Amino acid sequence: MEQINTYSLRRSRLLNILRKEKLDGLLIMKPVNRYYLSGFRGSAGMIVFTGERALLLTDFRYEEQARQQASDWEIVRYQGDPLETLRNVLQEMKVTRLGFEEDYVTCGQLKTFIAKLDQVSFIGLEDPVGLLRAVKDPDEIMYIKQAAFISDQAFLHILDIIRPGLKEIDIAAELEYLMRKLGSEGPAFETIVASGFRSSLPHGAASEKRLAEGDMIVMDFGAVYQGYHSDLTRTVVLGKATSEQKRIYQLVLRAQEAGLQSVMAGASCNEIDALARGIIAGEGYGPYFGHSLGHGVGLEIHEHPRLTEKNEKKLQAGMIVTVEPGIYLPDWGGVRIEDLVLVKEKGCQVLSQAPKELIELA
Ligand code: ZN
Ligand code: ZN
Repeated sequence: MEQINTYSLRRSRLLNILRKEKLDGLLIMKPVNRYYLSGFRGSAGMIVFTGERALLLTDFRYEEQARQQASDWEIVRYQGDPLETLRNVLQEMKVTRLGFEEDYVTCGQLKTFIAKLDQVSFIGLEDPVGLLRAVKDPDEIMYIKQAAFISDQAFLHILDIIRPGLKEIDIAAELEYLMRKLGSEGPAFETIVASGFRSSLPHGAASEKRLAEGDMIVMDFGAVYQGYHSDLTRTVVLGKATSEQKRIYQLVLRAQEAGLQSVMAGASCNEIDALARGIIAGEGYGPYFGHSLGHGVGLEIHEHPRLTEKNEKKLQAGMIVTVEPGIYLPDWGGVRIEDLVLVKEKGCQVLSQAPKELIELA
């Protein structure tokens, strides 16, 4: 019963898009959106939604699975060429204005659509379902909390493993193994382990570099649970931290906590970014914090809303975002601290539980 409510609510939001854009059909091709709308997790298929009818087209490998997972959708099996099948259903339902995901469909695909489905005009929409996905429902929040729990546990375990002489890729492999053992479906993205001078690379994928005494180690990683992601960054020091390392770490932590304190329903994304950024800039490190403060997380690792300098949109209760300021000093190293947080009417709930005081690994 619960599930039917979830999916019918999502469909009613889809219907709003249809009406607003004056369309008589919507074509959804992006796999995460297909999953979000129907519950179907197979790798091939398309959704055609007209308001009156909700169709999931897929091939014979997935027919059975689709019937089980997308139980309140009409399942249509491709007869030969998928585009022929699409053409037939659109004709049958008299769809002439069809919205599609212009951020996902390639130019090549669109060309083929236009050539083969000549009775239809294609109206590009910018990430229509992605915007719906920004506000999470209780089940989605539960899945993301579980993914966050898995990455927190993996972080605690990795602290016992890190020692001088190991390579960054060893640490990345251990993190991914630990998360997998804890129930993750796979890494949420390419695990970042950047140590010593490499820690000044904000997106330093793990390399062959060996960990050395005195290195700062930035670890940015996440788990996946029921298709939902987590995202966590912690920076630790191998050995005793220098006073410079302590100072930079405390500054990033101060900015991160100020960011967290300003996350609440109604706050503008750019104001939150500015607040955290202002603290770093106030100490003269503005040029060394070159990325945005955070991003939404859900079925994709980066999704709406974006906590950037330009995004004036306001947060809504139920959104889940990261807050992740950093300072990256070339030839010296870098610090980033990232938590996952649930936006509430008043304030927020921090989902990441991994410790944030500076950890010096003896
Ligand atoms: Zn991250
Ligand atoms: Zn992130």
